[in-house]
Amino acid sequence: MTIGIIGGGIAGLASAIALAKIGREVDVYEKADAFAEVGAGLQIGPNAVSTLKQLGAFDALEPLMVAPENIRIMDGVTGTLLSTLPLGQQFETRFGQPYRVSHRADLLTALLETAKNCDRVNIHLASTLTRLDIEPDTTFCHFTNAKTASHEMLVGADGFRSVVRRSVLNDGPPIFAGHSLYRTLIPIEKAPDIPRITDVHLWLYPKGHVVHYPVSAGKKLNIVAASEQNWENKGWSVPVEPSEVIKYFPNAADNLQSVLATPQNWLKWAAAGHPHSPVWHKHQTVLIGDAIHPTLPYLAQGAAMAMEDAVCLASAIKSGTGISGYATARQDRTRKIVETSKRLGEIYHMSGLQRLARNFAIGHTSTKSQYNRLDWLYNWTAPEI
Ligand SMILES: Cc1cc2nc3c(=O)[nH]c(=O)nc-3n(C[C@H](O)[C@H](O)[C@H](O)COP(=O)(O)OP(=O)(O)OC[C@H]3O[C@@H](n4cnc5c(N)ncnc54)[C@H](O)[C@@H]3O)c2cc1C
Repeated sequence: MTIGIIGGGIAGLASAIALAKIGREVDVYEKADAFAEVGAGLQIGPNAVSTLKQLGAFDALEPLMVAPENIRIMDGVTGTLLSTLPLGQQFETRFGQPYRVSHRADLLTALLETAKNCDRVNIHLASTLTRLDIEPDTTFCHFTNAKTASHEMLVGADGFRSVVRRSVLNDGPPIFAGHSLYRTLIPIEKAPDIPRITDVHLWLYPKGHVVHYPVSAGKKLNIVAASEQNWENKGWSVPVEPSEVIKYFPNAADNLQSVLATPQNWLKWAAAGHPHSPVWHKHQTVLIGDAIHPTLPYLAQGAAMAMEDAVCLASAIKSGTGISGYATARQDRTRKIVETSKRLGEIYHMSGLQRLARNFAIGHTSTKSQYNRLDWLYNWTAPEI
């Protein structure tokens, strides 16, 4: 029997490639009728680059990615530049791989093309999993179109509202994290005239923050605004008017105001997750990516973790430690990433005296210290598969 994978997102396609590379036949079941990705950007840190290279998808993606020179950390109220983190040669030498930013659709396309080039990967679109029966040696999958399938091993890569998770952990629906994420893309010609627009900008603001950087070979600017608020909409994402975004940044510095005022179309997402679970599998059904460790996106590591999981799962199966070896290898690192992301949100959103103390601390941290703090995250090399 083949290995089944539920979900053809970043985790699902990456694990299909990784498992095919170790000689396993895989079936990927994706609920969408076609592969299409809502526009948004992703930061691809050195650890993610390492996994992309191991998966054989980096070269196809590289021409579409952007290599920003710096991350510029700004106070969103005064517009003051607090710190600059260089991402060029010095960074690459320190962490062994470069830093890139990418459109999600470009990453997904690169993974899809790589997966399609693997003889052992079969992709089934329009296949929505509704239910699982997990037996010790076989997992039986039931799909909406009355289709069924059985697999000796099943990978749940179906995102933060995972149906597989429900069968493995039964720990209820995801819980709203109290943060909304507004995302948009604009043509680069329409980008506001602010210094070094091709760098990654991080604007810190009371109870919110904004990140922007170019994607799609520099043709578009990706903007994400995070804000602490209640979620009063139906579903987990909804289009909103520009005025709603601007409302949450009333005292923004001029340059930040122009960033927020430029886009005409925003999509608002609820940030939601689950508490850490020490259990990652039931018999031979295992969870990866957002299905097991959904995270606030503030460390820019959700997709990176999903691809790391995929390579580590294949490596554990190849080495004979199997699903439990994979879970043991991944638990501490993914938990630390999720917790650090949450803590970063608290720091980015500080107000009053805390904000001033934070700004002082950021402004007085050397590049060397900044790199040292990122060492545990970026100095990570994907295992051979
Ligand atoms: C604003 C924002 C910014 C981000 N920035 C970054 C960043 O800079 N860097 C980074 O690394 N990460 C970032 N992330 C996180 C990253 O996007 C996610 O962590 C990553 O996409 C998770 O991948 P996944 O494959 O686990 O889940 P998903 O991408 O959600 O994919 C799940 C797939 O499963 C399918 N599916 C769902 N249910 C079923 C079902 N029942 N049957 C069949 N198929 C199903 C879905 O259609 C989908 O294709 C960001 C996230 C947000 C919200």
